[in-house]
Amino acid sequence: MSLFRLKNFPGKGSFPHGIHPPGNKEFSAESPIEVMPPPEKVILPLLQNIGAPCEAIVKPKQNVSFGECIGVGKAFVSASLHAPISGKVQKIGVTTLPNGRHLPAIFISAEGEQLSGQDLWNDILGKDWPRDCPMVYSPQTIANAIHESGIVGLGGAAFPTHVKVMPDDKKMIDTLMINGCECEPYLTPDYRLMVEVPDAIITGAMLAGRAVTAKEIVICIEDNKPKAIERLKEKAKGTVIKIAVVKTKYPQGSEKQLIKAVLDLEVPLGGLPSDVGVAMSNVGTIAAVARGVVKGKPLTHRVISVTGAGIQNPKNLLVPIGISIGETIQFCGGFTKDAARMIAGGPMMGFAFSSLDTPVTKGTSGITVLTHDDIRREKETTCVRCGRCADVCPMNLVPTKIAMAARHHNISLAQRYNIMACFECGCCTYTCPANIKLVQLIRTGKAQIVVSRKS
Ligand code: SF4
Ligand code: SF4
Repeated sequence: MSLFRLKNFPGKGSFPHGIHPPGNKEFSAESPIEVMPPPEKVILPLLQNIGAPCEAIVKPKQNVSFGECIGVGKAFVSASLHAPISGKVQKIGVTTLPNGRHLPAIFISAEGEQLSGQDLWNDILGKDWPRDCPMVYSPQTIANAIHESGIVGLGGAAFPTHVKVMPDDKKMIDTLMINGCECEPYLTPDYRLMVEVPDAIITGAMLAGRAVTAKEIVICIEDNKPKAIERLKEKAKGTVIKIAVVKTKYPQGSEKQLIKAVLDLEVPLGGLPSDVGVAMSNVGTIAAVARGVVKGKPLTHRVISVTGAGIQNPKNLLVPIGISIGETIQFCGGFTKDAARMIAGGPMMGFAFSSLDTPVTKGTSGITVLTHDDIRREKETTCVRCGRCADVCPMNLVPTKIAMAARHHNISLAQRYNIMACFECGCCTYTCPANIKLVQLIRTGKAQIVVSRKS
């Protein structure tokens, strides 16, 4: 029976278009978050956020302690970096991210005693989160603490959070929306946070709400997560926070679609949520805000899912940023015999990659390992002009036209079709009966545009 209802909000609880792919959350949804043992080394790319990279302030052979700042984000849209383990800087080298980018990175090997197990859990996710603390801090103090903590959007976008909460007289924020939709198939870290540490989310939401001086704070959750809804409703009692239960549909967790679903507001093409008086953060980010402000501790760890039919024992893990993905897979019992493809993130918006040495970054919400059965696809055939890709596009684009323009390197035509408005949700590719890799072609087209702007 559907729990669907949306009370006290102008939106209808859903948005036009979109799809209903299998959720596949059952692999890891009921696995409580486990604390990974500290690794022997971490690799920390200097760019883990949208915007400018940070600058390393440590040198090889230098000792660093847990939580110490090792990279400073000097640009406004940047984020600082902190050591997730105590140890020694081995080198400033180069690493490769799942999206294929080669980036400078700080390599640290572990030395000395490390915080681990229950002590680490208590330090990161805590036990008692004060409910009355927000009024203790001014909005500027909260924004500064978020900035110093190096917090970025942990839902995958990795946009520096301080930029969203810095007071801005030109763009007043009416509503802070906390995104707990987690609509990407397979992934469950946000679900586990909502079930296991709802107090951290409530405290973080009130702090972030004060930072942006929002009149309303709304936590948005899809109706396929009744346990999370129940936990947060219970914890939100007696606070100003409301819970909006929205309909399960992909990509409900996308900013523009969620604003439409709950507030019935349209973010203009090329615009931002702040253009309609909204600030949005995901639940994991908000828990990090609580830690950063209340405890004065930076972002060093995050929760990820290691999941899919290609993993022996799918789990949700609290891991240090910079740990190798291979280690997390090993901790989950390794691959199954028919494992075929590793994806950073989920299958709709994630990136396939091949190296087990690839580090977990601030924006890594999970690792999905698919099997040969999962990825078996028919060969690409000719477009039959069925229009299904346009029917499902939540941005009202015509994906087939954009993709064909990109395939033929016709950048100006792709731009006329609004290629940059595509946020790569993958609905078009998922639905295409001709198996045309539309979103992949669109990504290539966008990359061509970025290159042409630089040259
Ligand atoms: S869904 Fe595929 S076959 Fe149908 S119009 Fe779009 S690209 Fe062509
Ligand atoms: S064109 Fe972009 S936004 Fe539209 S369905 Fe395809 S991937 Fe999603």
